Parts: sequence; C-alpha cells; structure tokens
Amino acid sequence: MGGVSRGRISGKTGLLALIGQPVDHSLSPAMHNAAFAADGLDLVYICLDVDPDELPAAVRGLAALKVRGFNVTMPHKRAMIQLVHELDEEARISGAVNTVVIEASGLRGFNTDGGGMVMACQEAGIDFSGKSVLLLGAGGTAAAIAVAFGKAGVGELHIANRSVEHAACLRDRLHGTGMKGLVVHPLDTLPDAEIVINATPLGMKEGDLLPVPPAYVREGRGFCDAVYRPGTETPLVRLARERGVPVVAGDRMLLYQGVLAQKLWTGREPNVKAMDLAIS
Ligand code: NAP
Repeated sequence: MGGVSRGRISGKTGLLALIGQPVDHSLSPAMHNAAFAADGLDLVYICLDVDPDELPAAVRGLAALKVRGFNVTMPHKRAMIQLVHELDEEARISGAVNTVVIEASGLRGFNTDGGGMVMACQEAGIDFSGKSVLLLGAGGTAAAIAVAFGKAGVGELHIANRSVEHAACLRDRLHGTGMKGLVVHPLDTLPDAEIVINATPLGMKEGDLLPVPPAYVREGRGFCDAVYRPGTETPLVRLARERGVPVVAGDRMLLYQGVLAQKLWTGREPNVKAMDLAIS
C-alpha cells in the first residue's frame, strides 16, 4: 500500500491530525503513525496548533481539504461541540469532542475518552460490572467516563466533586440517559466505593495533592487515574503501587482513547501493540 513505513508520502496519502494549543508535546503522532507504519496504511498523523479564535476557520479548512478526521485537545474540546453535525452520546453528555470523522455528509463528533478508560480497566483486569464506582470530578472527562461506564454496566456511580452543584448537574444529565444508581457527594465525605476514578487534574503538576485522603488508598479498592505525566507517575498511581493496590495509570487511557479514535477513522482494528510500544 506504500504506507509511511517505507518513508513515502504519495499523492494518495490520507491525512489525520490533532488540533489543540499547545500540541508540541503530544504523544498522539508517535502512537498513530506507529500503527500506520506497522500495518502499511497510507496515512499520516500530524499536530496542528490552532488559536481558539481561529477554530471555526481551521475546522472548515480541514473539511475543505478532505482530511479524514482529527483529534481535538485542550482548549478546543468544548467549542468543537458547535462545529460538528452529529454527536455520539459521550460527546453530547460531556459537552466535549475529542475525535472528529469527516464524511461527505458532514462532521461526526465523538468522545472516546470514556471508552478508553473502560478498555484500560478491562486490560488491567479491573471488573466494574455491578460494582460501586466513585468518580472524582464532574468536568468533560468525568462525564465521558460516566457515560461509558454506564454503558459497560457499572452498579452504582458516586460522583464527588469540588463543586457539588457541578456534580448534581452531571447526575441530572446522566439521569436523562436512563442511568440509575447515581449519587452525589462533596469531596470531604467519600463513600465506601470498590473502584475509584480520578477525573480531576490533580496530579498533573509536581506537588499536587492526592485527589483522595491517603488512607482511602487501601486493599480492596481499585484505582484509575485519568491524569498522566509522561516519564513519571502521578502521586495517586505511585501510592497505589506502593500499597499493592490495583491501579490503571492515565497513559493506558490515552492509548485506548487513541485506539478507539483510529478505529473510527479507518474502520479496522488498530495495531494496539505498535501504538503501545510508541508511547512506552
Ligand atoms: P475539566 O472539564 O476542566 O474538569 C475538571 C474537574 O476537576 C472539575 O470537576 C473540577 O471541579 C475538578 N477540579 C479542578 N481542579 C481541582 C482541584 N484543584 N481540586 C479538586 N477538583 C478539581 O477538565 P477535564 O477536561 O475533564 O480533564 C480532567 C483531567 O483528565 C485532566 O487532567 C486531563 O489531562 C485528563 N484527561 C486524560 C485523558 C487521557 O487520555 N489519559 C483524556 C482526557 C483528559 P469543579 O467542578 O469544582 O471546577
């Protein structure tokens, strides 16, 4: 097929991209291009730095250029909602798009972050079906995770957030999808959940506090962290590993949100091994 594996970009090479600001530290080009190269697909993935006030023009340009699709990262995930013609449930409920497929009929917006976390848990053997899950955070990522976990059969979903109003707002949006077993908590009264997911940004910066009190990280619970820091562990992941508690780090979610996005663009099973190696 003359893919990028042989170092050739031809007149037929399909283009995929990440739009955001900044984008220069993204692992997505390495991850996607590794899979295209491994499987001989004639596709290439690049990063494009887009100013927020140029987002509509950039998206129109990508569609005009017949790019196959693109990922969306901060700060454009929310604004992208207004710029697509169709949304999946995760994107609609979260109010955030991370993947766009460009078709002749229009732009289709998806959010693969939640599905990525589900797959990362499955890979780690963390079974949440019928279990009580504590979700920390009520932003776009938390909402996408909640929808995906709801579809995957979570028993009870406890949402704890700094702003209890935001948590209640997410609960109400999830009620609208038919999801049951939803309970809201302030951060200082955490329930006794079996699985805990951090979907706040706590852990992104050196010196950040843990998203839960240290004593909450104990045997009998599984932990998942949406936050990832290339080359190091977040404090939550570090503590869970020290205590021998099952934990899923954010880079596994990153991998699987990418796997789901690539499948949407190509319609085929991505080469997960090549993608994983590229970001490990
Ligand atoms: P967001 O929409 O801004 O939401 C942030 C949430 O965290 C809100 O609920 C907010 O509470 C809470 N929060 C913010 N600062 C906090 C603090 N200091 N203490 C306690 N709670 C705090 O952000 P997002 O887009 O959902 O992203 C959340 C995290 O997920 C980011 O760190 C991002 O990097 C990560 N993420 C990872 C992946 C991956 O592939 N691994 C994919 C997507 C996102 P309030 O409601 O009170 O403001």
